[in-house]
Amino acid sequence: MMDVRYCPGCGTPTVKREDGGRPRDTCPACGWVHYSEMAIGVGALIIRDEQVLLVERSIPPVGRWTLPSGWIEQDENLAMAVVREVKEETDLDCTPVGIVCIRNMPRPGRNETYVCFLCEVSPEAQPRADGVESAQARFVSPADFNALDVSVFTRFLVEEYLRDRPGPLPASRSFNRFDLYPDAAIFAAF
Ligand SMILES: [Zn+2]
Repeated sequence: MMDVRYCPGCGTPTVKREDGGRPRDTCPACGWVHYSEMAIGVGALIIRDEQVLLVERSIPPVGRWTLPSGWIEQDENLAMAVVREVKEETDLDCTPVGIVCIRNMPRPGRNETYVCFLCEVSPEAQPRADGVESAQARFVSPADFNALDVSVFTRFLVEEYLRDRPGPLPASRSFNRFDLYPDAAIFAAF
């Protein structure tokens, strides 16, 4: 884990302090503790007429075909992020139905989590690449994956999902009546 020399909250130089069995950078002024570096990405699995929406990346790894994906912003929840990323990379408006896969990879620099949503789009809307992050965006039959440089993980995810097409983990509706966190997106088995 990388050192954080200044508190990201108030700018005070940090000090090393034992916390939870490890020395951690902590802020003597406001109490902030550096637990870990994390990054959360989202992706969209969109199937229409037995074809899967893929994008050809214009950013590294260039030329690789993947599900529309990207990192979430500080001020958006997972569902908002996946809608934004699909719009940016394919120009399609999508509706997240639920979560079908979570991948977590602890790495020395940061702990990465990728959350893949099953999403729906209208029957007739045509995808269009943005030319910045995506060079092409189109629906591809899984039978044609071999003709493209499809990422190993995208291939794994699509093929495993299509085997049984399990119901996704949906957004929980039961929480709204408590009205505690109106900006929270909660995906639950209940
Ligand atoms: Zn501080």
